[in-house]
Amino acid sequence: MIEIVKAENAGYCYGVERALRLVEESLKKSPKPFYSLGPLIHNPQVVKELRKKGIKDVNSLDEIDCGTVIIRSHGVKPSVFEIAKKKGLNIIDATCPFVRKAQLVAAQLNEEGYKVVIIGEKTHPEVEGILAYAGNNAFVIETSREISKKKFADATRIGVVVQTTQCLEKLKRSVGKLLTFTLELKVFNTICSATRKRQESARKLASQTDLVIVIGGKNSANTTRLFQICRRINPATYHIESPTEIQKSWFKRAKKVGITAGASTPNYLINEVENKIQSFFEP
Ligand code: SF4
Repeated sequence: MIEIVKAENAGYCYGVERALRLVEESLKKSPKPFYSLGPLIHNPQVVKELRKKGIKDVNSLDEIDCGTVIIRSHGVKPSVFEIAKKKGLNIIDATCPFVRKAQLVAAQLNEEGYKVVIIGEKTHPEVEGILAYAGNNAFVIETSREISKKKFADATRIGVVVQTTQCLEKLKRSVGKLLTFTLELKVFNTICSATRKRQESARKLASQTDLVIVIGGKNSANTTRLFQICRRINPATYHIESPTEIQKSWFKRAKKVGITAGASTPNYLINEVENKIQSFFEP
């Protein structure tokens, strides 16, 4: 017998549900063809379903001449909106309100004269978008190790914003180090509540189970973070995108298995994973 426990908070977050709802609504009434600027969410199975419904994901506005463009929950640089408007495209803005808040906070800090530091992944689309709001002197820090006296020699006032899917520990470490280089530090904790809750639930799950399965796109920042958090607590942690990746041999010594999932993982996938694990132990 195996016991399977699901994390208290797992799967679709508010921002992803909202983006999918906006897309479904727009499919009924907006001009065709439909484009998403980048995959709508970081989940390959869902993106495949959306393609079947006629939503093509493209990398740049250069690939679009007419119809509707969907701005995904990660948000974009202000210049993207300007170009889309100039092209006469119908814009569906699915930027998550939590991401929007981080963009506005970055712009406000810049206006107030702070040197803006964004804690997050340099190449993540959300961070690239926030950076575009933060002024010319802003930069991105991926880890506290990148913070040095040399880098902040001219900074007397530093303003901090954080990617919505980062973890609080990293923010704390970075803020602690930044404090040693400046007299004035203004910090906005822009980690979203969905991320916070999913990370807290994942920590609890990893400490109470023998093995953890984290479900979500390999390209999903928040899923990767859940995986890292769980693995630190419980080395028997696996990150999968689909039930087909699960191997029976993983469960040899496990009596209690935990399942969690990133913010872009649909419920049906979580259920499929649970069923697959159960099937290994059926008589
Ligand atoms: S993880 Fe948070 S910021 Fe990102 S889409 Fe979901 S609710 Fe919004």
